[in-house]
Amino acid sequence: MSGQVERGSRPSRGAAFRARLAVLAGVCASAGLPSTGFARGDVDAGGQGVGEGGGAVTPLYAPHRDDDGYFNPWRRFARPSLWDMLVWKTSDNPYDEAGPLSIPRVANDGAYLAGEEHSATVTWVGHATFAVHDRDDVFLTDPHFSKRALIPARAVPPGLPVESIPADAFAIVSHNHYDHLDAETVEALPATVGWYVPKGLAGWFRERGRADVVELDWWESARRGRFTITCLPSQHWSRRIGQGENETLWCAWLVDSGDYRYFFAGDTGYFGGFAEFGRRFDPIDVAMLPIGAYAPRWFMAYQHMDPAEAYQAFLDLRAGTMLPMHWGTFDLTDEPLDLPPRELARIVAERSGGDDRIRVLAVGERWKVPERTSAGAAAERSLDAFPQMKEN
Ligand SMILES: [Zn+2]
Repeated sequence: MSGQVERGSRPSRGAAFRARLAVLAGVCASAGLPSTGFARGDVDAGGQGVGEGGGAVTPLYAPHRDDDGYFNPWRRFARPSLWDMLVWKTSDNPYDEAGPLSIPRVANDGAYLAGEEHSATVTWVGHATFAVHDRDDVFLTDPHFSKRALIPARAVPPGLPVESIPADAFAIVSHNHYDHLDAETVEALPATVGWYVPKGLAGWFRERGRADVVELDWWESARRGRFTITCLPSQHWSRRIGQGENETLWCAWLVDSGDYRYFFAGDTGYFGGFAEFGRRFDPIDVAMLPIGAYAPRWFMAYQHMDPAEAYQAFLDLRAGTMLPMHWGTFDLTDEPLDLPPRELARIVAERSGGDDRIRVLAVGERWKVPERTSAGAAAERSLDAFPQMKEN
């Protein structure tokens, strides 16, 4: 599919700085507190937990809530100080943000979503939003079709019209940050859409008149027709106006349609969970992995992977195809909005000379999931990996 390249102009340095302060203000407003991330020096991503080399699996399955709310048992985060925040926000951005952005976009009216797909396709709407069309079913990941994520403005229009999403679609939500959970989008989608959300978030949907909501904890699964939908750990945190810090859970999702297994990472730092998911849920056909909002590393590494870590996560997952996401849409951090895929290509070329299993989609691009080999098809039927089926 050919992509037209959309070019926007960069704001002046002063304007960019003011925009960042606005983001900061937005995050703080959402928080009531000045912190968004993790302490300086706390950047050895994912060292604990499991890995290809073995090691402790237990923390991934350990209790993850106490009186202070939810937490990541394999690695607690240290709250950054207001000083850290100010150091970041007032220091010069080391990246050159002059010049036009290159964010490919293709026109797509989404009309096919109302019909039947003989196998499966995935369409990137932008940021962490994909529309997966598997036979005659459609599901969305972290649906966001609005102009802003609280304050940051969308750089490129959504790759599908929200009206193209069928009334019987369902959606998975990773956590409550504004670039992943958007009230306007929830209200714009048909009220009949089913929602799969991590612990603590169901009430927010019910308050908005959304009745079909299933709330899951890590390692719990739910059935929806032929789908098995599983909530999995991620290394992140949560906060939103009206919801205190870590009052609601964050997660990744594994959606098994019977034909394909889709892994959606949500928002996460690199951690040992990926190797465990790869071992446990093999074969994963498609891995939707965040590659952007990673700089500066001293501030972001705990909560957001960089492209090198995202590629390692893909290898850990042993997935068939990597679909990069969380770039090109909302400018949240220091690196230019269109840098992450170029950085990913550079790293992968350096590491292995290239990897044709990575598919960087244009906004609005519809991609066909490759058919499974017969070996993969034989392995796929077992649902033993999903032990905690929650009856709803
Ligand atoms: Zn995010």
